[in-house]
Amino acid sequence: MARLDHAELEAAATAILEGFGAPATVAADVAASLVGADLRGHESHGVVRLATAYGSMVEDDALDPRATATVADREGATATVDGRQAFGQHTGRLAVDVGAEKATAHGVAAVGVRNGAHLGRIGEWAERAADRGLAFVAFVNSGLSTPTVTVPGSSDRLLSTNPIAVGLPTFDARPFPLVLDMATSQVAHGKVTRRHVDGDPVPAAWTVTPEGEAVTDAAAFESGTGALLPLGGLTAGYKGFGLATMAELLAGVVGGGQVFGEADPGWVNNGAAFLFVDPLAFSTRERIETVIETFDAYLAEATMADAVPQPPAMHADRPLLPGEPEHRTATRRRAEGIPVSDRTLAALDEVAATHGVDFGH
Ligand code: NAD
Repeated sequence: MARLDHAELEAAATAILEGFGAPATVAADVAASLVGADLRGHESHGVVRLATAYGSMVEDDALDPRATATVADREGATATVDGRQAFGQHTGRLAVDVGAEKATAHGVAAVGVRNGAHLGRIGEWAERAADRGLAFVAFVNSGLSTPTVTVPGSSDRLLSTNPIAVGLPTFDARPFPLVLDMATSQVAHGKVTRRHVDGDPVPAAWTVTPEGEAVTDAAAFESGTGALLPLGGLTAGYKGFGLATMAELLAGVVGGGQVFGEADPGWVNNGAAFLFVDPLAFSTRERIETVIETFDAYLAEATMADAVPQPPAMHADRPLLPGEPEHRTATRRRAEGIPVSDRTLAALDEVAATHGVDFGH
């Protein structure tokens, strides 16, 4: 396992993206987003994508590396951003910037995003809104990507991992915004793809087959065996299914993208509903800082029981706020470097060589 400096990784990713044909500013933005995902521990949405999906998407005309997004419609507190199949990390920036400008003027705003290709780590858009002092909610659908997620009582692949993100600025209360950023399936599909690339097994609670068994072999899952369970798994998956359905339809209505059933699936083409709220239209900065600090201090009193399993990123002695694991991981990785597995590195070397880029690690 290599450890790469984030700035060097970003420079290499920028060069590879320019090799794909992306304009310099788009390449720099997309590289920053991909490395930002790696820094925060979401490798599934990091530079590995350059070596997995993005090249094939370009070949199949599902991603136009040369394109830039446009604001297709702009009225009152609403806007529609058409990504025009450009890199979604570029489109997401434009959508947040337009929404933030409107929410600052009106107190609230809504932006529909269509033809987003792959908007990447949706929490990035909550962080960008929080940087502008805004609360944020995103409902995202896959715009007919090949389905991987099943519904309660089935193992048919019917839905996508439709993410939902919610953000709240913390001002001086914390050095990071609160960001809940989650797939509505047990995990994002990218986490299985990453295990496939690295040859790691898949945790049993993530998947199901028609026999009610789990698929622990990532390669078997990637070649079509079983399906990802909706969030809540075999016991409460109806809740994840409900969230996925609302994300599918809200993104389809506000974002104007296609929903499952309308056409044959293919590559991801995220549609999204981005909602912005200026919390200072309802409260004061002091009150917001106080409620966050008070609530966090209250949580810190929790008794952590050794017999109760903790989620992987949980710090052993107290609960973490949404977005805190990402903040901790990014702080550590900025100082120590980003761990990149040998197989991911080999795949990146290959794509870099294709574009005449010397990865130079
Ligand atoms: P995850 O399960 O790793 O994290 C989900 C949320 O839980 C995060 O907000 C995180 O801060 C919080 N969290 C994690 N561990 C915690 C702990 N110990 N204590 C407190 N909070 C904790 O994320 P995921 O559902 O696997 O999604 C991964 C990424 O995939 C997300 O960035 C998502 O936006 C992205 N995604 C994108 C698409 C797309 O089409 N663009 C589709 C699906 C998912």
